[in-house]
Amino acid sequence: MVGAPRVGVLALQGDFREHLAVLTELGAVAIPVRREQELDQVDGLVLPGGESTVIDKLARNFGLAEPLKAKLAGGLPAYGTCAGLILLADRVVDAGPGQQSFGGLDVSVRRNAFGGQVDSFETDVLVDGFEGPPVHAAFIRAPVVDSVGPAATPIAHLTDGRVVAVRQGALLGTSFHPEITGELRFHRAFLDTVAARL
Ligand code: GLN
Repeated sequence: MVGAPRVGVLALQGDFREHLAVLTELGAVAIPVRREQELDQVDGLVLPGGESTVIDKLARNFGLAEPLKAKLAGGLPAYGTCAGLILLADRVVDAGPGQQSFGGLDVSVRRNAFGGQVDSFETDVLVDGFEGPPVHAAFIRAPVVDSVGPAATPIAHLTDGRVVAVRQGALLGTSFHPEITGELRFHRAFLDTVAARL
């Protein structure tokens, strides 16, 4: 497709294949990113679900963490799901030993906020600005946004008021995994953001 946005998916660990499939389905050129040269070729980046401590460690070992931090600080559009949201957060509560994030989103994110794997659940969530039915959201050892700083805007809450999706300029983060439930609206919104910046 001529002029399709080139969107990377951080492919160090986690469910990056599912994100690559959704982005391809939506007409983007989807590129797995493991090295700095690959990062340099993309107009936006998705950070997948998985294990944020592992992705953080691998990114530092692969020499990708510093270039990625610089890109995000420079305005690279990015969308993080679950572990990806943790990696995009400026502040992480209950981080693993020595765990770092890339930052960008002016939020505090609490890891494993609902408990362990057995406490995973699915529920419907209303998202500000989305047309159509609520989002059917899968929470898998999911984080929650504990506090939202002035630069970021919450766009989805659980019924108890806890924030599970945020937006800040070209950055988007969700506690849950649209890439595994056939929900396309987040990726579509993200691609619109990427296209608008080209
Ligand atoms: N609990 C994981 C972490 O801390 C995130 C889980 C997920 O991405 N599904 O990174």
